[in-house]
Amino acid sequence: MNAIDILNNHYLKRTSCREGIIEIMLNANKALSETEIRDALTGNYDRTTFYRSFKTLEEHKIIHKIVVDNLVVKYAIDKPAHQNKEHVHFCCNVCHTVQCVDTVNVLDIKLPDGYTPTEIEILIKGTCADCKK
Ligand SMILES: [Zn+2]
Ligand SMILES: [Zn+2]
Repeated sequence: MNAIDILNNHYLKRTSCREGIIEIMLNANKALSETEIRDALTGNYDRTTFYRSFKTLEEHKIIHKIVVDNLVVKYAIDKPAHQNKEHVHFCCNVCHTVQCVDTVNVLDIKLPDGYTPTEIEILIKGTCADCKK
């Protein structure tokens, strides 16, 4: 799966900015902040172009937002394995890396009667495998 395939699958026009953002996120093995993505982008795009491309990818659920706290918001690309499947996010307290992690089954949470969940966001904080070494 490359950037072109992803854009084609979503019937989105190929633009170098969209392709660039997707490539960066595919190659990063962790979630990135908007600034990190912007800085890694090689083409010279103005703020509006970048922002619009970014929003389009988010609206099409090609990328998703991970809110760690008030100050840290990261984005990750949806891996094919994550499509339409709940997955959890892991934030390392040591290196501050945020990753999407696959779990066998997401916690089975029982809500009181009358409550319907539409989205489940689970953020686990701890020590990642690299920092544990
Ligand atoms: Zn770590
Ligand atoms: Zn994720």
